[in-house]
Amino acid sequence: MVYRIGADIGGTSVKLGVVDEEFRIAESMRIPTGEICTADGIVESIICACRELMAKYEIASVGIGSAGLVNPKTGYVLRAGNLPFLDEPVAARVAEGLGVPVFLDNDANCALIGEHAAGACRGLQDALILTIGTGIGGAVMIGGRIYRGHNYKAAEFGHFVINIKGEACSCGLRGCFELYGSARALIAMTKKCVRAFPGSLLAREAQHGIDGSTAFAAAKGGCAAAEEMLKDYGKVLAAGIDSLVKIFQPEAVVLSGGVAVQGEYLLGFIRPGLIEDAVVRTTELGGSGGLIGAALLGTSYGE
Ligand SMILES: [Zn+2]
Repeated sequence: MVYRIGADIGGTSVKLGVVDEEFRIAESMRIPTGEICTADGIVESIICACRELMAKYEIASVGIGSAGLVNPKTGYVLRAGNLPFLDEPVAARVAEGLGVPVFLDNDANCALIGEHAAGACRGLQDALILTIGTGIGGAVMIGGRIYRGHNYKAAEFGHFVINIKGEACSCGLRGCFELYGSARALIAMTKKCVRAFPGSLLAREAQHGIDGSTAFAAAKGGCAAAEEMLKDYGKVLAAGIDSLVKIFQPEAVVLSGGVAVQGEYLLGFIRPGLIEDAVVRTTELGGSGGLIGAALLGTSYGE
């Protein structure tokens, strides 16, 4: 049996695990990064965890998926939002510490590779993934291969403009899709709805704090205000998905990230707004997709 290690570096933790030839996770661990605030610290903790796993399994390669802008060819993380990486040769540094080949790619590409190998778009040739979290990330597979663009920056699905008169986005454009469709946007909508309907079940749910799941919980409990708000949110996601489908005509669009945890219930708000005849699914691998996909960077998926 060939085993590979996959590591998924996110804003709050590194998920790391051993993946076998059937794309199953044989063993996994989670390293919180909250207290590790340096690039050295994160690289060291990945090396330590890999060594622990390499003592138990024969490891062919290590793959790392990172948030932010990465160059898979050089193995550098160029910059990564909340993470302390700036022009950091992460792959080379981990490889030096371990003595096995180490590969690097961005986290959305890894998530799509994972879903293609073992999840919601298994066996398909053309597929997209939208990762709906604080922002919106994306990846595209054409003919069974990840399309990365000549500079590896492709598929920033959070940053196509849906409102040219919209708010300024951190990317330099205005009115980007993620300003309306991300979990952060959903939370802002939820807060607004709570203020507009102070006597609603949503407002009562919100007393325990508001996150991306608050409105879904209230709507499930029968709150009409939350349901109406989610219909509006669903229309935004449907518009974004329809636009992408018009461009790529994929066999499936997979939704992942924190909001996609709602599964079919979320899709129930999106489907009525879709005009394209597209297959839209939520992730089958949940938070493990990125880890499994990262492990597979050492195979033809990484090419
Ligand atoms: Zn933007």
